[in-house]
Amino acid sequence: MKYNHSKTESAEYLRLALPLMSRHDAPLHPISYAVWYEYVSGMNRALNEAVDALTARGTPLQKDDIEALFNRHVADITNEAAASISHEFQRIVGAISTSTGEVIKESDHFGQTLLDIERNSSLPGATIDIKALIASTQSMQASTSSLKTKLAESQREIEALREEVTRARDASLIDALTGLTNRRGFDQALAACLGSPGAADKGEPAAQPCLLMCDIDHFKRVNDTYGHLFGDRVIRAVAQVLKENVKGRDTAVRYGGEEFIVLLPDTPLDGARALGEKLRRTIEGGRIKKGGSEDVSARITISLGATRYIPGESAALFIERADKALYAAKNGGRNQVCVAAA
Ligand code: GH3
Ligand code: MG
Ligand code: MG
Repeated sequence: MKYNHSKTESAEYLRLALPLMSRHDAPLHPISYAVWYEYVSGMNRALNEAVDALTARGTPLQKDDIEALFNRHVADITNEAAASISHEFQRIVGAISTSTGEVIKESDHFGQTLLDIERNSSLPGATIDIKALIASTQSMQASTSSLKTKLAESQREIEALREEVTRARDASLIDALTGLTNRRGFDQALAACLGSPGAADKGEPAAQPCLLMCDIDHFKRVNDTYGHLFGDRVIRAVAQVLKENVKGRDTAVRYGGEEFIVLLPDTPLDGARALGEKLRRTIEGGRIKKGGSEDVSARITISLGATRYIPGESAALFIERADKALYAAKNGGRNQVCVAAA
């Protein structure tokens, strides 16, 4: 199964996908959802590039666009997942339409009974079949009340889902644009890392985490030259390089606008510097295509500051030192890694 996101993560993706789905003209069926789910989760790079290229036209995506995106970038591995989502949709829609159908049948029957009574009562010496009328009325009441219960149940389910989504948003640890850990997630991870009982108690040297703070160079210029949408794509591309190079217990974070942090819980300063250099070189060597009909690609560079934790210091001081190292990298001419002396 390719979707191994937690409930919290997937609820966040649901929240992000819904407005995107409704912004475009394609129907809101499970295929659209699979496309937008993968898009917002950032798990499918080729899909994101294809969607970005299409949306750069400035017109909403149509049914055919979504189907083409699904078939090209999602389908081969999502058939099973799409079938399961589709099954769930069908179950809910099926349940509602069965209940509604029953009420309609009952009300038709009730109407017919009333017509029969009216016709019969106009005949000389006619009597009204009260029993039939009561039976019809009761049957109609029963199915209306059953529909009411089912609708109330659905409403409760929807309300619970809404609350779940709100909670997920408030407690989100994931950055919406890039799928990296967000600042809140970073604060938690750093606190856990600094607060973990010292390995020194067990006779081992205490782990001394390192931070690598990164900032895209002259990003304002990128936005001004190519527009904010392209700027967002640059941020996602940088995030993708971080994701691909940050492994194991290390955490890649979108710290703010075009700033990132990598938390390395147990890496020596030399290792942090080497990783920084690798990230810097990879980003410098890449080209980000503007997409659409224009054949423009931008060259992006980043500056980085690395530092190691000094036992006993606060998280704030640790971050501040990484920031100072980044500042030194900017002052030194950008597109470089600087290490702060601890
Ligand atoms: P420097 O090399 O000194 O870092 O130069 P810079 O232009 O990158 O400077 P600065 O950090 O001041 O500018 C960051 C710009 O990033 C400003 C802001 O408009 C833009 N920005 C912040 N968040 C986002 C975002 O989510 N998307 C886009 N497209 N732009 C953003
Ligand atoms: Mg900045
Ligand atoms: Mg910058």
